Amino acid sequence: MILLVDDKSENLIALRKTLESRGFEIDTALSGEEALKKVLKTDYQLIILDVQMPGMDGFEVAEAISGFSKTRDIPIIFLSAVNVSKKFITKGYEAGGRDYLVKPFDTDILVLKIRTFIKLHEQTTELNTIQQSLLKEIAQRKQAESKKDEFIGIASHELNTPLTSVKGYLQLAERQLEKDQVDQAKMFIGRSKAQVEKLNHLVSDLLNATRIETGKLNYKYTEFELEPFIGHAVDSVLQSYPDVQINTDVNGSVKIYGDETRLEQVLVNFLTNAVKYAPESNNVWLTARLLPGDLVEVRVRDEGIGIPKEKQPYIFDKFYRVEDNHNQFQGLGMGLYICSEIIKHHGGEYGLESEPGSGSTFYFRIPLKAVQ
Ligand code: ADP
Repeated sequence: MILLVDDKSENLIALRKTLESRGFEIDTALSGEEALKKVLKTDYQLIILDVQMPGMDGFEVAEAISGFSKTRDIPIIFLSAVNVSKKFITKGYEAGGRDYLVKPFDTDILVLKIRTFIKLHEQTTELNTIQQSLLKEIAQRKQAESKKDEFIGIASHELNTPLTSVKGYLQLAERQLEKDQVDQAKMFIGRSKAQVEKLNHLVSDLLNATRIETGKLNYKYTEFELEPFIGHAVDSVLQSYPDVQINTDVNGSVKIYGDETRLEQVLVNFLTNAVKYAPESNNVWLTARLLPGDLVEVRVRDEGIGIPKEKQPYIFDKFYRVEDNHNQFQGLGMGLYICSEIIKHHGGEYGLESEPGSGSTFYFRIPLKAVQ
């Protein structure tokens, strides 16, 4: 749409008629002030501006228009019957005009100019859009790269810590053996085994995340019983944390069709986090029950540090870790991401309820007969 600005309504009517008969869509303003209000509300392709108007003159209007980022690029053509000298024409271009036409003008030439300016304006807008999306894309790349670098840093540190401990414990064990202190040596070997277990978890998390990325995480669906499935997950966690009390309440003896090993991985991850992020507590609560619609729900509750509300939506994202506890708790921020992918594969849903300082509850629900 083109905006015509002139304080004389007879001029507006005449020009409007001419241009509408050539297929242009036209809007009009009877003063500079009205024109400014309109350009902020409507996207015009071009503005034809009378120079001499009471109140704001055409030059002032053009300067104001080029000052708003939204309207800066709209082409302006000045039209004047009075101010036709070189001085005014120069002023018109300086105020941001693309052209300065002197009355009487040739209508065909005006139409040609309008078409050319509108085309140029469209091309400029298109180029601006392309530039903006390219800049956004570059920024997102850059962001992904720095996230990757940060991840490699954390991963190296996380792998290095247990590795250094293993090395230390084995040296200590060796020294004890040289002194024939077999029991002491055994104790250090036991400690190094726990660190190797930790390394094993980290490496399998890394492998699983890569497999998810490449769509190569494979699943073996079979039918299995709910109760022994819960029992296996609990035993596996108690092996690593023998002092923890896992209060289990399984309500319903049912068969599930899904990948038992992968689902056990999810439950072990929930339980391990419940222990890990509750350094002051030895209690974890696990409930499993049937829900209407042939769903089974498993909930794991802890009395740990909890998670602030604003961080909760990101907890299942890849690499996400609550920043404030980075130094206190080790981890790669991949466990819950892998859990979410496994649950999604079973056609289920997952979530959490948490209050900082009062603990967290993580849950998942899957259909008894998961769809593959
Ligand atoms: P990791 O524990 O290896 O960092 P996860 O993906 O298992 O990775 O967890 C992501 C983040 O979610 C953790 O870093 C931690 O900040 C937070 N989190 C997970 N479980 C709990 C929990 N039970 N209590 C408090 N915070 C938790």
